[in-house]
Amino acid sequence: MPAALETPAFAAMSPKSKLAPFSIQRREPGPHDVLIDILYCGVCHSDIHQARDEWGGAIFPMVPGHEIIGKVVVTGSDVKKWKVGDIVGVGCFVDSDRTCEACKAGEEQYCEGGMTLTYNSYERDGKTPTYGGYSTRIAVDENYVLRIPEGIPLERAAPLLCAGITTYSPLKHFGLKKGDKLAVVGLGGLGHMAVKFGRAMGAHVTVLSHSPGKRDDALALGANDFLSTKDENAFKDNAGRFDFIIDTVSAQHDYNAYLGLLRRDGIMVLVGVPDPTPVAAPSLIMKRRTLSGSLIGGIRETQEMLDFCAEHGVASDVEVIRIQDINEAYERVLKSDVRYRFVIDIASLRQT
Ligand code: NAP
Ligand code: ZN
Repeated sequence: MPAALETPAFAAMSPKSKLAPFSIQRREPGPHDVLIDILYCGVCHSDIHQARDEWGGAIFPMVPGHEIIGKVVVTGSDVKKWKVGDIVGVGCFVDSDRTCEACKAGEEQYCEGGMTLTYNSYERDGKTPTYGGYSTRIAVDENYVLRIPEGIPLERAAPLLCAGITTYSPLKHFGLKKGDKLAVVGLGGLGHMAVKFGRAMGAHVTVLSHSPGKRDDALALGANDFLSTKDENAFKDNAGRFDFIIDTVSAQHDYNAYLGLLRRDGIMVLVGVPDPTPVAAPSLIMKRRTLSGSLIGGIRETQEMLDFCAEHGVASDVEVIRIQDINEAYERVLKSDVRYRFVIDIASLRQT
């Protein structure tokens, strides 16, 4: 058994408990591992879904956090890709079976053996729990680590590791084209990144939001247009308007109403994960529409996305918080009051 590294963290002890200080054991880095001192960690709505066990099967104690930026402080004896001092990122998974078709295709997020999530999961041994980025350091296999290009402020880079790749990947995969009319549903962490990527890829971007007060922000973030879904005419007046809809909403809403906004052969991609919601066949049949979904992105594509961000000046808009403020931040996310991603300054955890 390699020696363990005592590491301060914040954890939820049960679905109903608030996050509180906790101590975890990180492994001493093995030959293929890097040890990373964590600088920033973004706060994803998935952290809340999981800490409250809304998806079932949650593993407690849980240390959330899968938008990790840090500095390499130790490299294992066989590590080739990284050196001490490198600024790196870790996203939603830290391992996968590496042998299945999905892994070979560089789409580890769809690993047939099941990816090892950064937290709320088990290592490949099936019994060692994984703990996420609400902690001061993490040991990760070198192949599951991303390079953070120079020029992106580090706190604004953290959300790219989940919110960024989750929106970039489907826009690329389903072929968003220059001039396409893109609708982004929900202006939160994922949604605001979808707006930025949509514009950077040359689309005409409209935000559909249930928060009318976000209009000015949406336009400032780069959207060309804004529709309040509280406006009762919004769905009727905009029927058949969009080529592509990316739906980032975390709570239940009527997919059929949004499908009606697609033109013939339009596509709607779900990335938000609310409770199950029915879809009526005519919503798809009537204009040969496509409804799909998409899960984060593989390591190769995540690196491509980070490089794209550096090249196009794309970064997340963030509110930096102390770890001690995490429970209030969760409440604000639940009220759709995040502008537009909370990012924890992990220095605040070193001082406790
Ligand atoms: P977020 O910051 O809370 O954003 C969600 C947005 O949804 C809110 O800002 C709000 O935007 C809208 N919304 C919330 N409640 C609503 C309601 N009742 N009706 C209509 N709209 C509502 O969350 P996030 O971090 O972006 O994550 C969004 C979802 O994506 C979560 O379910 C998360 O688990 C999931 N996710 C999926 C993946 C993946 O790989 N597919 C990856 C990461 C996260 P407006 O105020 O503009 O309406
Ligand atoms: Zn996430």
